[in-house]
This record gives sequence, C-alpha cells and structure tokens, in this order.
Amino acid sequence: EVPAFNTLAVDCVAAPGAALLPRVPGLADDLFVSDGTMTKREVRAVTLAKLMPMRGALLWDIGTGCGSVAVEWMRGARYARAVGIEPRADRRSMAAANALALGVPGLRLVEGEAPAALDGLEAPDAVFIGGGLSAEAFGAAWAALKPLGRLVANAVTIESEQVMLALHARHGGELCKIQVARAEAVGRMSGWKPAMPVTQWSLVK
Ligand code: SAH
Repeated sequence: EVPAFNTLAVDCVAAPGAALLPRVPGLADDLFVSDGTMTKREVRAVTLAKLMPMRGALLWDIGTGCGSVAVEWMRGARYARAVGIEPRADRRSMAAANALALGVPGLRLVEGEAPAALDGLEAPDAVFIGGGLSAEAFGAAWAALKPLGRLVANAVTIESEQVMLALHARHGGELCKIQVARAEAVGRMSGWKPAMPVTQWSLVK
C-alpha cells in the first residue's frame, strides 16, 4: 500500500507565469536579466557544487556580471552572503535586480576590478572568478581565502584559459572541461546546439 504522504503535495492549477524556484542551484537562465554574458544553467550548477554554499558563509564573486553565481550562492544556504566585484555599472544594476527578484536583496556589489577592488574586503569562505582572471587577482584571492576555502575559476576564452593553465601548473587543483549542447529546432527537426566549452579550475585551500 502506498502511504498517503507519498502523494503529490501540490494539486492545483498553476497560475500563468508560475515557476518553481528551488534552492538547489541551476535555476533556468531566463529567470535572470542578463546581456548574454552569463554562466549558463548547467555550468552554474556544477560551479556552485564546487563552491559549496554553507550557512553564513561569504563568497567573493569576481566578475559578477549579472550576478547569477552570487545569487545562487545566497539562495543555497541560510544566511549565506556574497560580494560581487564588477567594473561595469550596467551589469552591476542587472545583478542588483536579479538579487532582488530572486529573494536575496542583501547581495553586496563593489565597483572596480580585481585585484585592486579586493583590498579591505572581509576574508571569504569561497571565491568564484568568472572574469578578470590574472596571476595578481588569483594571488590576492587565494591569500585572503580562509582555511578549507574553495576557489573556482571558469574560462571561456583561449587567453583566459592560458592564464588558468599556467596558474594550475604552479598551484595544482583540478581541471575540468564542461561542454553542453541543448536541443534546438532545425527547421521541423531538431539538433544539438553546442554552447562554448568552459574550462573550470577548482582548488581547496
Ligand atoms: N559570472 C558572470 C559572468 C560575467 S562575464 C555571470 O555568471 O553572470 C565576466 C565579467 O567579468 C564581465 O562582466 C567583466 O566586466 C568582468 N571583469 C573583467 N575583468 C574584471 C576584473 N579584473 N575584475 C572584476 N571583474 C572583471
């Protein structure tokens, strides 16, 4: 016999535009306002798994763009906090709008570029570098990171991958290549539309 509590808890007609907003990372891309330079859903989910949001923990999101990683970090654990570092005002305002719309209005945004903009920030429990990877930015973030802190960097361009591989050769950690393709219409048929591959470097202090 199937116990009653195993039955679906929600049995209603969804309102138009209704959406489920889980705390588990990997929210749909169209829930965020962005100019296209956003970490896509599948890559974001893997990135957050390695960053490991925890209660009260602080993330530095370097190159926050529209803030998708910082927002999912803050949603991922109670009292999780994030600072987004982003030189472009248009992207900082998208990040602020996303944080507000997705229930984490406490996202702090800092204008400027790493490493200079990292000066004086509270030491982080995790660091994500989604833009502006350089030996200097890595060095400053790694030095500030707390023991057992996680650092994850994503590279899409060949130039940033080159910087990343050189840093990996010196500092170790794990490298991973993530290639995602989504099914899309091709006339009346469908085909796999590949997204740009992402090289991901992760290490734990
Ligand atoms: N992580 C973002 C993707 C942003 S694209 C997201 O998931 O939405 C990379 C961003 O890095 C750009 O917005 C760019 O303005 C920013 N950037 C480039 N150099 C930087 C630096 N030195 N410090 C901080 N941000 C930088």
